[in-house]
Amino acid sequence: MSLRCHGNTFEQDFHASVSNKPFQKNIVKQCTQCGKCCINYSDGGLSATADEIEYWEIFRPHIYEYVRNGIIWVNPTTGKKISRCPWLEKLPDEEKYTCSIYHDRPDDCKHYPVTVSQMINDKCEMIEVKDLSEPKQAQRALDKLMSNSFP
Ligand code: SF4
Ligand code: SF4
Repeated sequence: MSLRCHGNTFEQDFHASVSNKPFQKNIVKQCTQCGKCCINYSDGGLSATADEIEYWEIFRPHIYEYVRNGIIWVNPTTGKKISRCPWLEKLPDEEKYTCSIYHDRPDDCKHYPVTVSQMINDKCEMIEVKDLSEPKQAQRALDKLMSNSFP
């Protein structure tokens, strides 16, 4: 399982620069920054490529500290896996979250969401109720949206 989290702007858009695009009929509303995707996949659901890890090692050592043997995320002190992503930050006085490594987050995160069924399973708040009755159409629109907007 891979968390696919998508976006190309800063925290305000959080996972989904999808939210900045003109929406196709029947597909997704603005990302609410609910944080569910990050929370759902934090505990073993995320992976990073060798290239990403190498990049962090050279250019982002504070992120690389949380990598051990190709696994993300690992407590740099104890060497144990962390059940909740260490980069997920809750906004004060709001039930909203941001990613503190937004521009350097794993591709796994950038690509989210991949499928409408994934969004449904994750209770992603970008899904529109009307999408549920037209999942194929919604998936096509999501595919187009993601292919057009991937950074
Ligand atoms: S790295 Fe950022 S986008 Fe990815 S799970 Fe953690 S907080 Fe979410
Ligand atoms: S689950 Fe959906 S709405 Fe919630 S933060 Fe992730 S992409 Fe945004």
